[in-house]
Amino acid sequence: MSRVLVTGGAGFIGSYLCEHLLNEGHEVLCLDNFFTGTKDNIIHLMDNHRFELIRHDITEPIMLEVDRIYHFACPASPVHYQYNPVKTIKTNVMGTINMLGLAKRVKARVMLASTSEVYGDPKVHPQTEEYWGHVNPIGPRSCYDEGKRVAETLMMDYHRQNNVDIKIIRIFNTYGPRMAINDGRVVSNFIVQALRGEDITVYGDGKQTRSFCYIDDLVDGIFKMMNTEDFIGPVNLGNPAEFTILELAELVIELTGSKSKIKYLPKPQDDPVQRQPDITLAKRKLNWEPRIPLREGLEKTIAYFESRLSQTQR
Ligand code: NAD
Ligand code: UDP
Repeated sequence: MSRVLVTGGAGFIGSYLCEHLLNEGHEVLCLDNFFTGTKDNIIHLMDNHRFELIRHDITEPIMLEVDRIYHFACPASPVHYQYNPVKTIKTNVMGTINMLGLAKRVKARVMLASTSEVYGDPKVHPQTEEYWGHVNPIGPRSCYDEGKRVAETLMMDYHRQNNVDIKIIRIFNTYGPRMAINDGRVVSNFIVQALRGEDITVYGDGKQTRSFCYIDDLVDGIFKMMNTEDFIGPVNLGNPAEFTILELAELVIELTGSKSKIKYLPKPQDDPVQRQPDITLAKRKLNWEPRIPLREGLEKTIAYFESRLSQTQR
């Protein structure tokens, strides 16, 4: 048994990590400031005596004694990370420095949840880890994209300079139960809109692509990476099956049986045109690849939102 810190532990992905770690018998410290996370995501873990919830903002230092750190605190939806961009970059820069300082002091292994956004609006397709990306440093997405790029730099520098034991994963669009109803990312937006019979909001012409990974597959990859020796990454974790946003909208309408119509809205500035992970490295180093196809993952996610929406209507 070890003592594990999960920053952003009350968020979408973080809550699955807390749950899995408790199931494996570890002691879990879940740290969150509840900006986008919620106690609902971890309420079922609260009466486990190995689970501890810490309300804290990672832009402030914290003294803890832990063996491992999953550093996932950061709003991930463009709507939320652009709400307070200065705070987003502080979370990525100061938050990551604080976690690396902690890891250095207590000699903990630390994993950074980086992102496919480090590739920006990519000119290389699909994206391999060697690609340095095409990122606008001064646009509305840069607080997140550049924030994560600096976070990766910090990880590498603490590793080279101070021998900190690090892991960097680049997560591609992941979806599933426990995304917030108001999360603002495409999968939850489309499902909630379809279930409510509202228009499906497609930004731009809908020909831009994304590759969607179901949460269980991602979690499997995260733990394989954390438990691997002699490989620090960065490694892409995502599902290589690529879809246009319009294809996603049509699939959600089909699976929900909704009468919703598609409504076209302007495309946000710097919205990447295409995105697909090359997962050759993850396959080779971690023996990992996603198993859950989009249709199946969407069905599970739709069932979740159906039950959430019926609760909120009561
Ligand atoms: P999320 O918004 O559900 O979770 C983020 C969590 O971090 C929330 O609980 C939030 O309250 C917390 N948080 C934010 N700022 C904080 C701060 N300053 N101090 C303490 N807690 C803070 O998002 P998610 O999808 O679960 O993403 C988790 C991580 O994975 C993020 O770092 C994100 O950048 C990364 N990621 C996610 C995806 C994806 O598709 N879901 C893709 C790429 C990268
Ligand atoms: N998108 C959309 N309608 C929405 C939300 C998002 O068409 O209601 C588009 C968005 O413009 C982008 C894609 O879906 O092209 C994925 O957006 P998301 O915010 O989920 O993630 P990211 O852009 O960070 O990959």
